[in-house]
Amino acid sequence: MHHFDLKDGALHAEGVPLDTLADEVGTPVYVYSTATLKRHYSLLRTAADAHTDALGEALIAFAVKANSNLSVLATLAKLGSGADTVSEGEIRRALAAGIPAERIIFSGVGKTDPELAFAIAVGVRQINIESGAELDRLIQVAAMMNASPAIAVRVNPNIGAGGHAKITTGGKGDKFGVPVEEAYELYARASASPHVTPVGLACHIGSQITDLTPLEAAFRVLAQMTHKLRADGHAVTRLDLGGGLGVPYSGGVNPPSPAEYVAMAARVLEGLEVEAAFEPGRLLAANAGILLTEVVQVNERSDGRRFLVLDAAMNDLMRPALYDAFHDIAPVRPREGAAMDYDVVGPVCETGDTFARDRSLPPLEAEDLVVMTGAGAYGAVMASEYNSRPLVPEVLVDGDKWAIIRARPTYEEMLDREPFADWL
Ligand SMILES: *Cc1c(COP(=O)(O)O)cnc(C)c1O
Repeated sequence: MHHFDLKDGALHAEGVPLDTLADEVGTPVYVYSTATLKRHYSLLRTAADAHTDALGEALIAFAVKANSNLSVLATLAKLGSGADTVSEGEIRRALAAGIPAERIIFSGVGKTDPELAFAIAVGVRQINIESGAELDRLIQVAAMMNASPAIAVRVNPNIGAGGHAKITTGGKGDKFGVPVEEAYELYARASASPHVTPVGLACHIGSQITDLTPLEAAFRVLAQMTHKLRADGHAVTRLDLGGGLGVPYSGGVNPPSPAEYVAMAARVLEGLEVEAAFEPGRLLAANAGILLTEVVQVNERSDGRRFLVLDAAMNDLMRPALYDAFHDIAPVRPREGAAMDYDVVGPVCETGDTFARDRSLPPLEAEDLVVMTGAGAYGAVMASEYNSRPLVPEVLVDGDKWAIIRARPTYEEMLDREPFADWL
């Protein structure tokens, strides 16, 4: 469900025609819909609020890495969202956007000492510990600060899942979290230290998961571990269930609804009397964003292949090149005529710069505008200036209003970032 619809022959973002945005801001550009963000958040919030008996006052902590734009974060902050962060930069963004520290979770396998110290100093809700070595370092850092931050131990339940091997995080060989037996040991070690306060367990097994079975299996591991830890005399008051619920990138895929997902979690956690946390990234943001781009030209080759060359490239939207990801592609003003197969490509000098092969689309011509949908998560955040293409800008729409929320740098700004070495 999103708010990018055809009206009067042209695609709109809510009340704003996309051709207006292309004229005013130029292409390529990411466009986000406030109404869609709000809708996705409220679906999850409403589902969680229907299960306070099993989930407590569940925290919804948006995974900032999916879309870290300050205006996107501020939109979610106003709805009461927390943040799941994986770096000091993300914590700073969340705070700057108005997300209070007590709703910020700090995750990640490689948090540095300065980052841990920063998280303690600002008073984040919880630091998720991913290894024994990290626990030792956190205890040292906290001791120097005379603090005792709340921690959760991230368990690797040996249940990998997700839409692609590169976004599976809960398998035995993946770098995230500690195995169950080691988690007990870390919890005991943490309980014995005056410089950390263990409050619970965390897991996050992967991303773009379109079936509840692996998620349920992982939550059951956390529930069983909660019983065992309590039997050993430890306090367990929070379970962080991670993110990972998939979204429909194309018509054929129908992931479970947020309500089904939350109801499953409530079933598994029933009676434990813990406070749950959900860390959705993709679920909230993916279908709230599109990448708006213009056709540079159509290359009809003598061997019959037809290439649609866009002014967007893999440096603007990396998911197809990185994960073989599928994005729906649609013209802003569909032309009459029979659909044709196109290879949809960008101008970057790598064959990996291909968005789609043999994609059936209405006829298209140079200077037509097209959108790639489902681009609101893991899109702009991964963009780079590869091939010296200025960083792709971002626009936020709210009803009839729109604003540039990250400007495209000028070529001067791009070059000025690189001072010449003084011997040159
Ligand atoms: C990436 C990540 C998420 C969000 O994953 P989605 O698939 O976008 O929901 C949540 N928690 C952690 C720890 C993550 O690394």
